[in-house]
Amino acid sequence: MTASRIATASRIATEVDFDRDGRQCDFLRLPHSVDRSAYGWIPIPVVCLRNGPGPRVLLMAGNHGDEFEGQVALAKLAHTLRPEQVTGRIIILPMANAPAARAGRRNSPVDGLNLNRCFPGDANGSPTEMIAHYIETVLLPQCDVVIDVHSGGQSLRYVPSTHIRRSPDPARFARASALMAAFNAPYSWVFEGARETRALNAAAERCGIVALGTELGGGATVTPQALRIAERGLRRALAHLGALPPDPADELTRPDRRLQVGGYPFYVYARDEGVFEPLAALEDVVSAGQPAALIHPVDTPWQAPVEARFAQAGIVVCARVPGRVERGDCLFHLAAEPAR
Ligand code: CA
Repeated sequence: MTASRIATASRIATEVDFDRDGRQCDFLRLPHSVDRSAYGWIPIPVVCLRNGPGPRVLLMAGNHGDEFEGQVALAKLAHTLRPEQVTGRIIILPMANAPAARAGRRNSPVDGLNLNRCFPGDANGSPTEMIAHYIETVLLPQCDVVIDVHSGGQSLRYVPSTHIRRSPDPARFARASALMAAFNAPYSWVFEGARETRALNAAAERCGIVALGTELGGGATVTPQALRIAERGLRRALAHLGALPPDPADELTRPDRRLQVGGYPFYVYARDEGVFEPLAALEDVVSAGQPAALIHPVDTPWQAPVEARFAQAGIVVCARVPGRVERGDCLFHLAAEPAR
C-alpha cells in the first residue's frame, strides 16, 4: 500500500450526532483487536448537549488518567445538565484517555503513551495516538473553546489553578485570558516557555480555537475543595461563554491574580536518588537560591544529603508527592509575578 492510500480519516466511530439537538450519551468506539475480543472496541464515554446555535465547547478530563478531580466534575455535569439549559453545544469527554483513566494511571496501559504528548496523533496509530488524532481532527475543528481539566496526578500536587499558553494570535489570547478570569481559580498563570507541540493546547492553537487548562490539586485524590473550585469554575466559564445562564447567587470570590511560568529556572529537579525532604510548601513565596529540598541517600546514610535550591524567586504552585526520588524527577515548580 502506498502512503497516499493509507486512511487519514479517524476510524473512531460514535452514534452521537454532534449536530443534533438534545442530550446524547454514547461512547467513542476505538477499534481494538485483542486476544479476548477480535472485533472489539475501547469505549470512551461522551455526552453531547446541544440546543440550537451558540458557543461550541469541548470539556475534557482524563487526558491523564490519574487526575480525578476533572473526571468527577465532568461526570457530575454530564448527568445533571439538561439540554434546555444549554445554548449552543457542550461536548463532555470525562475520560479522554479512557484506558489510562480506567487504570488510574497517567499513561495508557494499552500502549504506554501519554495522550498529552501524542497530538496531532495518528489515524492508524496506537490507541492513544488514535484518540489524539480524533480530538484534533474531529472534535476541536467543530468547537470554539476547549477546557482541559488537569491536576497533579500521582506524582504532583498543585495549588488550585488555571493556565493558558501565550498565543501568537492576540485576539485569541485575549479570549483565553477573559475565560481564565471568568473561571476565577485561586491562582492563574500564563505559560511563556517553549510550546510543547504534542500537547492539547498546541492542537487547539493549530485548530484556531481557545484553550484553557487547569491544575486543580493532585496526589491522585479528589478533595472537596478542589472539586468545588472545579465545578464552580466550569459553570462560571460556561456562563462567560454564553453556553449556560449565569448563576446570580455565585459571586466571584477573589481578585484575578495573574502569574507567569517560564522555562527551566521555574522548576526544581532532583539531582540524585534518595528520599526527598521538602524544605518548602505549596503557596510559599521563595527567593532565588533558597534551599528547596534535601535528598537523603538513605542507602548510604553516612553521606550528607544533597541540597536542591530554587533558581529564582516565585510562588510554589506545584510540589512532588512521593518521597522516593530519582535523578531528573521534578520536585517543585514556581510561578512568578509578571515582569513589569
Ligand atoms: Ca496533567
